[in-house]
Amino acid sequence: MSKSELFRRCDFHMHSVLSPCARQDMELSAILDICGERGIEYLGITDHITADTDTGILWQTRCELSNLHPSMKVYLGCEADVLDVGKHTVTDEMRKKLDFIAVAANHFSNPFVVRPDRHDRRAIAQHYLRMFEYACSLDFADVVVHPLYVMPGTHDPALLNLLEDHEMIEVISQAKENGVAIEISPRSLVPEQMRFRMRFLGLCKKAGVKFSIGSDAHQIEMAGMTSLVAPIIEELGIVDDDIWLPESER
Ligand SMILES: [Zn+2]
Ligand SMILES: [Zn+2]
Repeated sequence: MSKSELFRRCDFHMHSVLSPCARQDMELSAILDICGERGIEYLGITDHITADTDTGILWQTRCELSNLHPSMKVYLGCEADVLDVGKHTVTDEMRKKLDFIAVAANHFSNPFVVRPDRHDRRAIAQHYLRMFEYACSLDFADVVVHPLYVMPGTHDPALLNLLEDHEMIEVISQAKENGVAIEISPRSLVPEQMRFRMRFLGLCKKAGVKFSIGSDAHQIEMAGMTSLVAPIIEELGIVDDDIWLPESER
């Protein structure tokens, strides 16, 4: 099978101005324009839905999209939070009305997200894994974004090296069974997390999970820049069949 080029045409992780952390240049029309120029054919809008977000922003986006004429297929998603094991921010309405649901399980700088309650490094690493495991177990989850990635300013990234292959494989096989895709984004290229990232993604590839490709753009320069992950795609031998697309495209 030839190597994947589909990843260059997908961007399933995008923050509009309705995400408080996104820059003001992330207007929907600007996003659609630049992603079109950059060859994106499948685009997902995924604003943050955390514990205190008014989910009305999602339907506002749906309404705005209906007035635009994009050159690509546009899907309305969200980046929901796992707040703790057993607790998430996805409502029934979101499950019914969104085109896909992406979940983050490691926003530890968000005050609503429960931090590891112990100080030893192995326990912190296991908390990351348990949060990720819960995200993979959710029956409505389509994608887990930036899985087992250490957000800047939260923990020492090296502690994830304490996770063993066999415990990750157990969780990854749950993701596979539940049809949950694992994200590859430009965050995956952060040098200090690269060694762990390639080990983790290698296990995902071996298990046969699908990979969702997203820029996680918060500013217009990054929108549609999924070609940046080419070195990872190449190194892992990811082919088009390994790339996740929303249900309606499969
Ligand atoms: Zn995130
Ligand atoms: Zn994001």
